[in-house]
Amino acid sequence: MLSETTELLRLSQGHLNLLEVCPRKFQHTYLEQLSTPSNPQKEERQTLGSRFHLLMQQREMGLPIASLLEADTQLQSWMSGFSNAAPEILTIRDTQTFRESEHYRTLQVNNYLLTVVYDLLIADNEQAQILDWKTYHQPPSKGTLQQNWQTRLYLYVLAETSAYLPENISMTYWFVQSEGAPQKIKFNYDYTQHQQTVKELNYLLNKLTNWLESYQKNQLFPQVPLQSKTCNYCDFAIACDRQSAKAASQQPSLPNLANIQEVSL
Ligand code: SF4
Repeated sequence: MLSETTELLRLSQGHLNLLEVCPRKFQHTYLEQLSTPSNPQKEERQTLGSRFHLLMQQREMGLPIASLLEADTQLQSWMSGFSNAAPEILTIRDTQTFRESEHYRTLQVNNYLLTVVYDLLIADNEQAQILDWKTYHQPPSKGTLQQNWQTRLYLYVLAETSAYLPENISMTYWFVQSEGAPQKIKFNYDYTQHQQTVKELNYLLNKLTNWLESYQKNQLFPQVPLQSKTCNYCDFAIACDRQSAKAASQQPSLPNLANIQEVSL
């Protein structure tokens, strides 16, 4: 819950995505921290994904990874697929190149502290590459990924917090679990895209400021329209009373009994 005093609100790409999908979902998740029903399959996938991230981080730090690999054939297969597909990423090491896994950056915009964590950042005198590991089965389309706030925010924050021109920054997602060999989706950045992100970010943050002010006066964040399919897949459908509201909206409307003429028998 927010206090009346002005304090910086930390926002990640996940928070921006939530806000864009449904502001009420942001309220439930972030401001009220409502828990959602556990989903064992999803949790298992997340655990496996976290293990791959840990493996890549340990490797980058020069720590031993043999025991992690020995204990997990899935990790072995992802690691060997990735080593074959992109050996250069694992091997570039010279004194001119900066490399860091789990590289953390923040940028203050108004009362918000935008935070990013790059799985790996590789930077030299000319360019900076952001790398991100994904362990989904099916990569999303490039268009979908481009619109995701992870892509927009990660590129934007690096351009704002470093000396690199947008044109010298890129972001590449590696999908290690794709069918066959790992696949990559790369985004080059430029000044026009950067300006577009500035506009979209300011728009969203201004809206958030207004919603937060209203929330302090007990006004809830907006919901998506009643007919939105988003509610069908949302864990807060009951909290939002969207299941019963949807069911009611699908009922055929009953005629007004007062308007029905009596039939004499
Ligand atoms: S149920 Fe619908 S309105 Fe409620 S948080 Fe989820 S998406 Fe938003």
